[in-house]
Parts: sequence; structure tokens; C-alpha cells
Amino acid sequence: MLATVMHGPGDVRYEQVEDPKILKPTDAIIKLSATCICGSDLWPYRGLQPQKGPAHMGHEYCGVVVEVGADVRTIKPGQFVVGSFCLSDNTCPHCQFGFQSSCVQREFMSGAQAPYARVPLADGTLVATSEMPGAEMVPHMLATSDVLGTGWYAAVAAQVREGGTAVVVGDGAVGLMGVLAASQLGAGRIIAMSRHAERQKLAREFGATDIVEGRGEEGIAAIMEMTNGVGAESVLECVGMEQSMQQAVGVCRPGGTIGYVGVPHGVTFDGQKMFFAQKRMLGGPAPVRRFLPDLMERVLAGRIQPGKVFDLVLPLAQVAEGYKAMDERRAIKTMLRVDT
Ligand SMILES: [Zn+2]
Repeated sequence: MLATVMHGPGDVRYEQVEDPKILKPTDAIIKLSATCICGSDLWPYRGLQPQKGPAHMGHEYCGVVVEVGADVRTIKPGQFVVGSFCLSDNTCPHCQFGFQSSCVQREFMSGAQAPYARVPLADGTLVATSEMPGAEMVPHMLATSDVLGTGWYAAVAAQVREGGTAVVVGDGAVGLMGVLAASQLGAGRIIAMSRHAERQKLAREFGATDIVEGRGEEGIAAIMEMTNGVGAESVLECVGMEQSMQQAVGVCRPGGTIGYVGVPHGVTFDGQKMFFAQKRMLGGPAPVRRFLPDLMERVLAGRIQPGKVFDLVLPLAQVAEGYKAMDERRAIKTMLRVDT
């Protein structure tokens, strides 16, 4: 088949690769209904994350099961499924505790920017719908796989509660999904930090009540003023840079919580400063599997439309242009149609 391979920074090709096949009896093969490009795919694309040789890209996926290994019990061919970028058995102590992204058998999904993909640990990783969803549901279901699941985790980790105040740092796709999650979880006030008009518009659509354009000290000062000098009880850090983390810590009230889902690049903490600041933190790769059944149900019931975060849709064959558009910030997030 033809699939997406990154050969090096800026070098994404849609080229011939071997068809995926069952390698372990717990694997499944799915035919993708759609796939997309993640903000984290841009780290190697920009040369900011070293890469060992050509990589099969793609870890966000939904589709129809075409084949399962001999030990797969609950997932069956013909089912429509969504899975997380973290592959998990869903039975080990960490999975049972709701942290499937720390599964003792954890692997990371790859090779999903393709017409077909192999999903290891199929029973633990995949969640099936009871019926085949309509084509109009595909973008929203795809979004639950990573970008919504990650934004949701940011909100849960930040302990967003009914009527509370949440600040979302970062107006990328995950940040926008963090706004949606905070809104669904009942936050009374949601302050989105964004300086791009079209992202502000989406943030408002997803439930932001206030927008702050300032960054750094200026942004912190604006939010402190809006909260009568107190700060916010829940802060969602959705970037992973030193400045965004400083902003998150700066706007969080003592006793408040920061949920951080941007993979940290060059972020450092001062232990003594954190000690006296008295701010709680929980982050890491999102245990999307914990949230998937609930998120898929919200989508199917028409309560949320997270697929609106895809502002560029291209055929899979044009995946290279999809990376370029995101790299140049012409697109928030690119969805790739699988037309085969
Ligand atoms: Zn596990």
C-alpha cells in the first residue's frame, strides 16, 4: 500500500510500504475511515526531536476492523473502532487505576497515516461502537482518538469543576479541545489565551467566555486582574514550552491545579519556588482510553462536535502538504481523507 513515511525534517513522503499484517495474536488490522496530523508530529518535522531513520507516521485513527489475531476476544471484524495513541492492555494495575497511558505493556501507535494500520493490544486499546456511524460522524470520532482525549485529560487533570474558573494556555488544536472539555465539565468561566482571530472564534464556539491576547508577564497580569488578583483554580497547559508553563504557573491560584499535556521541551522548575507557590500539577501522555467510551457517546449523541478543530481536509495522498500547512500555521489541524 501507499502510506506516510517521514525521512527527515521537512521530508514527508507518501510512498510504497509493506501492507500491515498481524504480528502478534493480540493485534488487529483496521481499515482507516480517516486519519490526521498531530501537533506532536511537527516536533520531528521541524528537526526538534531526533529521529532514527525513516518513520511510519500517524497515531490518531478510527476505522473498521478487517482482521484480528487468534487471541483477540472482544474486537471483531466489521466493527467501527476508535483507539488511543497509547496502546494498552486495559487490565494491568495502572490501566485499572485509569492510567492506561502508563500501561505495563504500553506501546505507542504508529503508521496510522495510511489506508490500513496494525493496532497492537486490540482488546485493550480499541473501543467499538454498536452500530456503524454515518460519514458525518467520522471527523468527530477521529478527534476523540487523541486531540479531544488529550484536551479532556488536561481539564480532568486540572480538576475543572462545575462553576469554577479555568484558564487554557495554548490555542492549538489541543488547547481548543481543552476549552471544549472545560465547558462540558461545567466550568463557569473559561479564559482562553490566544492572539489569533480565527482560533479565538473557535475557542468561543467551544465555550470560552473570555479571551486574553497577552503573553508572558502581560498575559499573567491580565488574568490576575480579571480574577481580582486571585488566579484560576484550574489551568490547562497545552503547549509544553518554558514560557507557556511559566504562564500556567503564574495564573494558577494557591491550592489550584495545573493539568499539563504539552510535551515539555526545555521546561524547568524551581523546587523551592514551587514549594512556596503551593500549586498542584498532573500531566503526561493522556490516558485517552479512560475517556473514550464517554467521549464517543457524547459525539454520537450530537452533544459535541470536536471535529470542527479540523480546518483543513486533504486526501491522504497529499499528506506532505498537510504537514506543511500546519508547520507554516496555515492550518490548526489537518484531517486526511482515506478514499480507497
Ligand atoms: Zn495496562
